[in-house]
Amino acid sequence: MPGRRHGPYRSKRCPGQPVNLSEEALLRKSTDDRSSPFPGHTYPRATVIGMPSAVKRLRNERQATIGGSIAHADPAADWVATMTGLGASVRILGPQGPRELPMAEFVTGALSTALEPGEIITALRVPRRSPQARWSYWKFCRKTGEFAKASACVLADPEKGDYRVLAAAIERAPVALPDPQGLIEGTADPRGAVEAALPFLSPERRALQATATIRALDALKSGAAA
Ligand SMILES: Cc1cc2nc3c(=O)[nH]c(=O)nc-3n(C[C@H](O)[C@H](O)[C@H](O)COP(=O)(O)OP(=O)(O)OC[C@H]3O[C@@H](n4cnc5c(N)ncnc54)[C@H](O)[C@@H]3O)c2cc1C
Repeated sequence: MPGRRHGPYRSKRCPGQPVNLSEEALLRKSTDDRSSPFPGHTYPRATVIGMPSAVKRLRNERQATIGGSIAHADPAADWVATMTGLGASVRILGPQGPRELPMAEFVTGALSTALEPGEIITALRVPRRSPQARWSYWKFCRKTGEFAKASACVLADPEKGDYRVLAAAIERAPVALPDPQGLIEGTADPRGAVEAALPFLSPERRALQATATIRALDALKSGAAA
């Protein structure tokens, strides 16, 4: 069953500054569409379970935490795909002090990350985008709520010249497809891009991935409701 999330990616607060998805910020904002840093639930919806504030954990639709999903680094996880596609970076705290890594460097492979012993994720930072920026996410799964069998995340921020088309759920870290601007503007062939970038997939998986990419690109263009 296909599923998708997409929409305008905008924020009027602190233009130019990244959105800091610390637990506190997410707990306050993610369940309130009006005050969300991404109006219109433009990222996977987060919900909060009732817990004392000191031990509150941000949980997604599977009653799991964003930090847990990113740290687990399942290649089919929605947060891994979308946070990489949106160019987020991971804030880490450990015995050597704080550090920050882009998602693309944080996830080093299937179920592997750059986390060192003793380190924890404290926040995700998502770059703020210009008002024209749009993104989409499309995943295939057999049943609603399942891990993706193939997924694609697309970002177009023309003002900043930032274009991304990402293939995920490919049993390794997400892979950026070549010529994302051409793919988004329709001058490049998504099937050819998937063939070129994902030679390690079986022909059947590549076909599924190409379809996910085409649907994510279509969703970005049409702006259809999720
Ligand atoms: C049946 C099933 C279906 C699922 N379907 C989907 C799906 O469709 N899409 C999807 O995206 N996910 C899916 N998931 C994954 C699920 O949503 C969770 O993301 C995943 O199970 C991790 O759970 P958790 O957040 O409770 O993390 P935990 O199990 O608590 O943690 C996972 C790992 O990360 C470590 N960790 C946790 N937090 C931090 C932190 N802040 N810093 C450093 N390390 C940390 C833990 O020590 C542990 O090693 C599914 C899971 C199941 C079981």
